Amino acid sequence: MAFGSSIVMDQPRTMFAHVLSVQGTAVVVTNHRVQPLPMRPQEGSSTGKLVCQACGQQFLVTVHSCARTTAKRVRYFVLGLTGLALAALLLWLTFDVAMQPDGSDLDTDPDTASWYGYTGMTGILLPIFGLGYLINARKYDGVGKLRRIGEDGTPSIRTAGHKLLPSR
Ligand SMILES: [Zn+2]
Repeated sequence: MAFGSSIVMDQPRTMFAHVLSVQGTAVVVTNHRVQPLPMRPQEGSSTGKLVCQACGQQFLVTVHSCARTTAKRVRYFVLGLTGLALAALLLWLTFDVAMQPDGSDLDTDPDTASWYGYTGMTGILLPIFGLGYLINARKYDGVGKLRRIGEDGTPSIRTAGHKLLPSR
């Protein structure tokens, strides 16, 4: 299953970026100055300090180990597959109900109508969640949120002008 457990490297693929300029109003052109994140720890998670090479501000970012990142990807992958499988099962059940010989006057049967409403909603939501998890399984890079260390030394979620660029 190469999809769910593609190899996690010691160096996160996510990059730290200092946003240099944003130009225009209709078309936003953004230039970044990127630098790599701290290496992953051998196990568990570690919060590393990052100094922006462009402006010298200090940031904190949590990076998870290869094992932890892989485990999370596998979990997303399994959740995604389960969602899709359940959706397929619901679809199958719905069509099975519809094809029963005595189910021809479905519109007048309140039980079957509510069954349709129920499976309809779930049948739409499950594949969406399932696909979302599958995409996450591929993109998850084991990197936490970026925090900026303010002048008083306390971490802040306001990282004005800086962000993490997700991996492709
Ligand atoms: Zn900067």
